[in-house]
Amino acid sequence: MGTVVDASNKEANGGSLSEKKFRVVFVLGGPGSGKGTQCANIVQHFGFTHLSAGDLLRAEIKSGSENGTMIQNMIKEGKIVPSEVTIKLLQRAMQESGNDKFLIDGFPRNEENRAAFESVTGIEPEFVLFFECSEEEMERRLLNRNQGREDDNIDTIRKRFKVFMESSLPVIEYYKSKGKVRQIDAAKPIEEVFEAVKAVFTPLNEKVKHRHRSDASWSFNRCMRQFGEKIKCFWTRRVSS
Ligand code: UDP
Ligand code: MG
Repeated sequence: MGTVVDASNKEANGGSLSEKKFRVVFVLGGPGSGKGTQCANIVQHFGFTHLSAGDLLRAEIKSGSENGTMIQNMIKEGKIVPSEVTIKLLQRAMQESGNDKFLIDGFPRNEENRAAFESVTGIEPEFVLFFECSEEEMERRLLNRNQGREDDNIDTIRKRFKVFMESSLPVIEYYKSKGKVRQIDAAKPIEEVFEAVKAVFTPLNEKVKHRHRSDASWSFNRCMRQFGEKIKCFWTRRVSS
């Protein structure tokens, strides 16, 4: 299912990320494709920690940080916040979570985001979950969701679509060329989309279970064979003596 890079040789990763091995899945797709909704389901079923880059940035605005105004302006324009800001927030959240497997939702949004994350943390994603959906459907969802987001208005939505096509799709293409993209048809109802998502996450767990099961039955059979040999030996000795 892909690789997890040991980050131990990276120096610029802020310390403790370097000592651990992390499983990271990037969750990408246009605005309104259902990333957040499906991540919540994945968390429940597969024990990942969900880190939404957008949510972390919105929390940073609320916290009154010195970057708050800059972030707010970028989000209003549908632009991509500088990598170093987003990566710091992601690293902090990973360290604080105590978990070792993460769904990173809505990041990386451009090639620079992607390259910076890999070089700063030394972590390569195991795979990329890509939610594919038409703009008409995404627009309909964004205008109906009423989450009070400043960027869910038609002007900003159009800008976000443009940024997605121009900057984020190349990231997906990059990972496609590495065979790491798991594409999901995200235009269907939530439950149906989750069935497809489950199929992507399940094989690894199942394989592990099967392996353990077959390991156990192999040891059992070996034990029985050895026991059988001993009995045979015992009887042969008795009969011949
Ligand atoms: N954003 C960003 N970098 C990220 C994630 C989000 O700059 O890594 C900004 C960007 O302006 C984006 C907004 O936050 O349009 C909302 O992102 P989110 O992922 O919450 O929403 P989506 O557009 O995927 O619905
Ligand atoms: Mg989201």
